[in-house]
Amino acid sequence: MSKSISFDLAFIGSGISSTYTLLHFLNKLDTKNDSSIYHIAIIEKYPTFHTGIPYGERSGSTTLLITSLKNFLPEPELSEFIPWLNENKDWLLKEFLEEGGPLSLEWIQKHKDALEHNQWGDLFIPRRFFGYYIDNKIKSLTRYLEKENQLKVSYIHDKATDMVQKNGLWEVSFKKQSPIVASKVILAIGSLPTNYLWKNKARVNKEHFLLINDPYKPNLSETLQDIGNFVDEQSLVQQLNIAIIGANASGLEMLYQLNDHPEIKKNIHNFFMLSSQGLLPDSKIDESKLLEYETTNLDHLEKKESIQASDIAEAVYKDLDLAENIQLGAASTVGIISQKFGSLLNKLDYDELEKFACLHGNEIGRRQRCAGEHYSNIAKLLGDEDRFVHIAGRFADLQPTSTGYELIYSDKHGKKQKIEQSVNLVINCIGGMKLSHPKTPKILRNLLIKGIIQANKSGIGIKVNESFEAAENLHIMGPLLAGNVLEDKAVWHVEHCGRIISLSETLSDILFNTIQTSKENNFQLEIIDLEDSEGINAYKSLIKSEWDNNPYYVYEHLSHHKSEENKLLAFNFKVGSKSTVIMPMVMRQIELTKEPLFDIISPYGYSGPLYRNETTSGIIGSFWEAIDEWYKKNNVVSEFVRFHLNGNHEGYSGYCVPTLDNVFGKLMTSFEEQWDSFLPKVRNNYRKAAKADLTIKFYEHGEIDRNHVATFYDIYVSTMKRNGASKSLYFSLEHFENLVLSHKESFSIALVYKGEVAVSTELIIHLEDSMFAYLGGTLADYFDHRPNDFLRVEVIRWCIEKGKSHYILGGGINNGDGLYKFKKSLFPNSTDRIFYTGRKIINLEKYNQLSALAGLPFEGLEEVSYFPVYRKTVV
Ligand SMILES: Cc1cc2nc3c(=O)[nH]c(=O)nc-3n(C[C@H](O)[C@H](O)[C@H](O)COP(=O)(O)OP(=O)(O)OC[C@H]3O[C@@H](n4cnc5c(N)ncnc54)[C@H](O)[C@@H]3O)c2cc1C
Repeated sequence: MSKSISFDLAFIGSGISSTYTLLHFLNKLDTKNDSSIYHIAIIEKYPTFHTGIPYGERSGSTTLLITSLKNFLPEPELSEFIPWLNENKDWLLKEFLEEGGPLSLEWIQKHKDALEHNQWGDLFIPRRFFGYYIDNKIKSLTRYLEKENQLKVSYIHDKATDMVQKNGLWEVSFKKQSPIVASKVILAIGSLPTNYLWKNKARVNKEHFLLINDPYKPNLSETLQDIGNFVDEQSLVQQLNIAIIGANASGLEMLYQLNDHPEIKKNIHNFFMLSSQGLLPDSKIDESKLLEYETTNLDHLEKKESIQASDIAEAVYKDLDLAENIQLGAASTVGIISQKFGSLLNKLDYDELEKFACLHGNEIGRRQRCAGEHYSNIAKLLGDEDRFVHIAGRFADLQPTSTGYELIYSDKHGKKQKIEQSVNLVINCIGGMKLSHPKTPKILRNLLIKGIIQANKSGIGIKVNESFEAAENLHIMGPLLAGNVLEDKAVWHVEHCGRIISLSETLSDILFNTIQTSKENNFQLEIIDLEDSEGINAYKSLIKSEWDNNPYYVYEHLSHHKSEENKLLAFNFKVGSKSTVIMPMVMRQIELTKEPLFDIISPYGYSGPLYRNETTSGIIGSFWEAIDEWYKKNNVVSEFVRFHLNGNHEGYSGYCVPTLDNVFGKLMTSFEEQWDSFLPKVRNNYRKAAKADLTIKFYEHGEIDRNHVATFYDIYVSTMKRNGASKSLYFSLEHFENLVLSHKESFSIALVYKGEVAVSTELIIHLEDSMFAYLGGTLADYFDHRPNDFLRVEVIRWCIEKGKSHYILGGGINNGDGLYKFKKSLFPNSTDRIFYTGRKIINLEKYNQLSALAGLPFEGLEEVSYFPVYRKTVV
C-alpha cells in the first residue's frame, strides 16, 4: 500500500495566483453535493505562505504598489479590502513607519488627510498591507472550513522539483521531503526568475565591488542589510557609485529603497541607471495634451473588416510615436490606447489572437510602462543634485579597475561604451529569463524535457488548453499563462493583481466542477450480498479475476461464519470502474433488543480491507467514509476489524488498537545461517526430534487430497480440545475441505510422522513470497519427541529452499506468553509486526443503550476492553 498522502488539489507556489484560486475554490465548497473532506496541499519553497514575492516578507514592509490601490485591486475585492484597512491601519502604519526611512515618513505625512479619512483608493499603499490582508482572509476561511470538517489543508515548506503521472494521479517530488500525490496540481510559481547579469551567483563580492543578481533573494531586507554593510565598509576607503540595471518596477523599487535608507544614500556618490530605452516609466498624466491627442492609426483599423495581429501592433506603435512627438507619455496614453486596441482584438480569430498574445502584447507593454510619482520624484531629486544619470543601452560586461569595476554596455547602435566612472555596487533588475534558458527552475526544466509541458511562442509562457491545463490535471496559474488564448481573450501579461484575480476565478470554477464530477463518478461502493448464490458467484469471480484468489479473502475462508444471525457481505469499493478495495464482513444481528440493530466484524484471521498496491490514503479515506455512511444507513451500531499485517489499518476511521505482537520471521539465504540464529533451545529440541527418527512430509498444490485434510483436521481438533480453545477456533472438517481443496494452489499441509503415525501438523498459506503458519497442532502423546520444533525448523528449511522471504508465525494468546516465546525462539532477530484490531462505534446512543441492557457500562475503546462490550455476556 502506498504510504504517500493523496490530495485532491496540490498548489505548487504560494503567491497570490494560488491564493486567489484557492479562495474562490473554497468559497464554492458550500455548494458541493458530497460530504467528503477536501484534502489540499500548499507547497512553497519559502517559509511564508499566501503572499508570494511582492506582498510578503521577501519584499519587506515599506515597498509601495506600482499603481494606485483602485487601479491595483478590482471590485468586489477592493470594497472588502478597504474596511479591513480602516480597521487595521493603526498597526499597519506603525510598522511601516518603524521599518521605513525618511521617504516612508514623507509618504505618511503627505497622505495624512487621506489616511485619516480612509480615502485609500488613490494611494500607492505599501504592498505588505495587502499581503497581511490576503493571508488573514485565506487563513480564517480555511480554519472555518477545517472546523466544519469540509477541508484539510497541509502546508508543505519545500521546493517542488519534478512531477510524474502515476495511476491517474500526479506525484510531486521535492528537494527534501518524500513525494506526495494529488489528483490535480496547480503550478503557480510566479514569473520566470531574473536572468543573472554576470557570474552565476545571487551575490558576487569582489574587492571594492558588490553585485546583487537578485535583490529579492533571500529577501529585500537582507539585500539592503548587505548593501548597508558593504557601503559602510567601502565608504571609508573611497566614494562609491552604484548602477541599477533595468528601469522596470524592481529597478525603481531599488532606487527608492536605497534613498529610503539614509545610511546608504549618504555614502553613495552617483546613481547610474542603465535600461534599453533610457527612460523611466512615466508617472504624470498630462490632461490638456491628452485632449489634443488622437489615436489615428488605431481608429483607422476600426473601420476595417478583417485585420491581423500585426496590424494592431503596428497601429499601436505608430500612435505611440505620435504621442512621443508631442511629448505625451505612457501615463497619459495607456488608458486610451489599451482600450482601443483591446476592442480591436475582438476582430481577430483564434490563431491571430494567439499571435498577439505571444508576439505583440508584451512588446507593446514595454512602451506603456507607468509608475507612481514617488518613484520618478527620486530620480528627479537626485538629478537636481547631479547624482543621477540614466543611460540607454544594454549591459555587456564588468572589468576590474583599481577602485571598483568598469561597466561596459552596448548603446542603441550596438556600439560598446562604458560608464564614465567605476561602479562599486551593481543591482540587477533586468527582466526574467525565457523558458529556453538552461537555468530555468528545475521543476519546469524537468517537465519541459519530459515533454509533459510545452513552452508557447511567447517563450515565457506554457501552452495550456481552455481549462488552463498544460497536461491532464496539471493546471497553470499566474505569469506562466502568458501567450495563451483563454476565454477567447489573448493573454500576455498575468502579473497584474486584477487579472490574476479574474483568471483565478475561472480556474477555480474549472477545478471545482471537475473535482465534483470525478468525486461523483469515480467512487462507488458496491455491496455484494453473500447470502445468495448470485452474490457468492459474483464475489468468487471477482476475487479470482481481480484479487488473485487471495486465500484470506476467498469465499470459502469466510463461509463458516454464516448462521441464522450472521450474514455475510462484501464491500467492493470501485475507483472508476476498477475494484480497488475489497472487504468481506460478517453482519451480526444484535439480539438484546427487538429493534433491528446490527454490528459488523471481519472474518477470523488476518482480514480487513484489501487494497491494491497503489491505493493512496485519499482513496482509503474515501473508502472508509463510504463504509461509515453505509453503516449509518443500515442500522449498524459498531464495527470490529481484525487487520492484516500489511499496514491495512492505516487510514482506519475508527479506533485502532495494537493488539498482539506477531512473529514475522525473516528468512535468510541459507538454512545454515538461519540454524545459527535459532535460540539454543530450538536446536536442542530439533536434535531430540531427529534422534527419535521423526520425518516430515509436505503436501502441496495438486498433491493435497481429502485424506491429508482429514489427518490435519484430527490433530488440529485434538489440540483445540486439549487447550480449551475458544468457540471461534472450532471449524468443521467440511470448512477445511472446501477451503483447501478449492484453492490448492494457496495451501500446503505439513505432516510430521513418527513411523507411520502423523503426530504434528500445520496448514500453511502461501501469499506472495511469504508463508503463513495458519493453523496446526500436535498429538500430546508425542510431545517428548518435540515434533512441533521439528516441524517448524523443517518448514523454515523448506521455505528457504523455495526462496521465500518470510515465514509468519503469528503471536501468542497474549503478548509475551509461552506460545509467543516459542514462536519467537525461531526468529529472535526478526522484527515483530503488530496485529491491530479496529473498533468503531457508529451509533453511540444505541451502543450505550445496548451496553446498559447487557448490564455492562461502556468502558471506552481502550485496548483492554472487550468490544463491543454489550456482547461480553452473550458470546
Ligand atoms: C517585486 C515585485 C513587485 C511587484 N509589484 C506589483 C504591484 O505593485 N502591482 C501589481 O499589480 N503587480 C506587481 N507585481 C507583479 C506580481 O508578479 C504579481 O502581482 C503576483 O505577485 C504574481 O503572483 P504569483 O503568485 O503568480 O507569483 P509569486 O508572487 O512570484 O509567487 C509564486 C510563489 O511560488 C514559489 N515557488 C516558486 N517555485 C517553487 C517551487 N519549485 N516549489 C515551491 N514553491 C515555489 C515562490 O517562492 C513564490 O512564493 C510585482 C512583482 C514583483 C516581483
